[in-house]
Amino acid sequence: MAAENIEEQVDDFPWHIGVYDAHCHPTDTMSSIASIPDMKAAVLTVMATRAQDQELVEQVASKHGVKSQPPDSAHGDGKVVPCFGWHPWFSHQLFDESVYGGDSKETLTPEEKQQHYKTAITTKNAQSLSDEDQDMLASFPDPKPLSQFIAETRKRLETFPQALVGEVGLDKAFRIPYPWAPDQEGQRNDTLTPGGREGRRLSPYHVDMEHQKKVLLAQLRLAGEMRRAVSVHGVQAHGVLFETIKQTWTGHERHVPSKRERKRQKEHPQAVHADDHQGENIQGQTEEVTSRPFPPRICLHSYSGSASNIKQYWDPKIPIDFYASFSTAINFAERETPKRSGIEDVIRAVPDDRILVESDLHTAGDIMDEHLEDMVRTLCTVKRWPVHDGAQRLKANWMAFVYGTGK
Ligand SMILES: [Zn+2]
Repeated sequence: MAAENIEEQVDDFPWHIGVYDAHCHPTDTMSSIASIPDMKAAVLTVMATRAQDQELVEQVASKHGVKSQPPDSAHGDGKVVPCFGWHPWFSHQLFDESVYGGDSKETLTPEEKQQHYKTAITTKNAQSLSDEDQDMLASFPDPKPLSQFIAETRKRLETFPQALVGEVGLDKAFRIPYPWAPDQEGQRNDTLTPGGREGRRLSPYHVDMEHQKKVLLAQLRLAGEMRRAVSVHGVQAHGVLFETIKQTWTGHERHVPSKRERKRQKEHPQAVHADDHQGENIQGQTEEVTSRPFPPRICLHSYSGSASNIKQYWDPKIPIDFYASFSTAINFAERETPKRSGIEDVIRAVPDDRILVESDLHTAGDIMDEHLEDMVRTLCTVKRWPVHDGAQRLKANWMAFVYGTGK
């Protein structure tokens, strides 16, 4: 009997505690949205990435969005926290209107469009496009003004007070897919929301890093202004990502008390308390609601850098609370290979109260639940947490990331 009980405990996954997916893309498969209310996961943090999915995320949030804070999915509350953002893979589709005559510029002439894509797109060695590839540019979508996208996102964040900013970031590895050729249209999978990769042939071209940074910084500023958390993508750009986010908080570092100050505080708690309030370093509750140049919280999603790189985000001087979320789909794609030991070091380097789970899947339903369960179990194994205990910690971490609670 005893043995049976133990086995039961091992197999029993604590869905009742609540599992919170910190990053996913179910609007890429709209037919899967209907399955969300029946999922075992408590809440999905649903990203928008490009022109085609901003409205879809809005629609899904109107129908399935959480109403209470914190969400109460056990009592009929929704299961979706929407996020609005523009992904680095699509950042060339936004143009900097200040280059083309200012804020009121809504569309570009064909020559300006060509000019924009020529500056926003480069080869790996930052060379510009060849003549024949310039023809390809003509078939690219008309780019949208960055300020217009930011204004639309601000409105969406106002409509959904629970919404976050995401998915945003930097990516040095990604290559832009060629547009569908007219004779390839038949190969398209109709169930997928357009605009993603969809198995298209990849061009040798990247989005220029300076352009990616511009698009990222504009969105980080918006998140700072509206005090929303952000979900960030970073691939083969870990150094430049840190430096770019750092630009937002430079000059606003937290005051870290010296040994002497800590000693003084112990001896004369009142005196030091009064001193500290003169600085801009004390992160009180009131500061949370005031607009700042940097976001309050950032999650590094499916983090793929090294353990030593990720540690720099938890420097006590940084006034942003950083989290990291991990997915089976990205972080454990090569589960059986030695790469796994690297990712385990990264997971161990993340503080216990700053780690999250995610599926990063492009479809909702049973498969998303399976990925989440697998990831919770894996994190618990690496962190040496009993699964029940781990699920509780991960839930508290998600609440803290999304709502800034429990700090
Ligand atoms: Zn993603």
